[in-house]
Amino acid sequence: MSLDDLYREVILDHYRSPRNKRALEAATIDVHRNNPLCGDDITVHVLVEDGIATEVAFEGVGCSISQASASMLTEQITGKKLDEIDALVTGFRKMMAGEEGPDEDALGDLVALKGVVKYPVRIKCAVLAWDALQEGISAHVGS
Ligand code: ZN
Repeated sequence: MSLDDLYREVILDHYRSPRNKRALEAATIDVHRNNPLCGDDITVHVLVEDGIATEVAFEGVGCSISQASASMLTEQITGKKLDEIDALVTGFRKMMAGEEGPDEDALGDLVALKGVVKYPVRIKCAVLAWDALQEGISAHVGS
């Protein structure tokens, strides 16, 4: 099995069995974003307690890349401090910009999205949930 096949499997697994795909009544952050180019629609919910994302969930519809990326996002940021999440978002964006050096251990399954860099129109799909997350965190920190 090639690395590309392995990555594809990871993406399809998250798409078919999304993690934390549900409403989150108690959320402190709720941000909705859509990507009209592809029809992707994502809402990210985060419950922040003492500067830590204690619960993270998402709801949405769209292509496998957008939904898998949101599912991976919820797994990777749950239990992390907001500044750690900020560093993770920066690392993920660097990877999606095709830059070298993201910490692959910190990114976990998200590394599977690295192959999307080859398809520029799909990068927007991969970063959609992250745009929503970052917007929500900045608004939360600023408030
Ligand atoms: Zn898409």
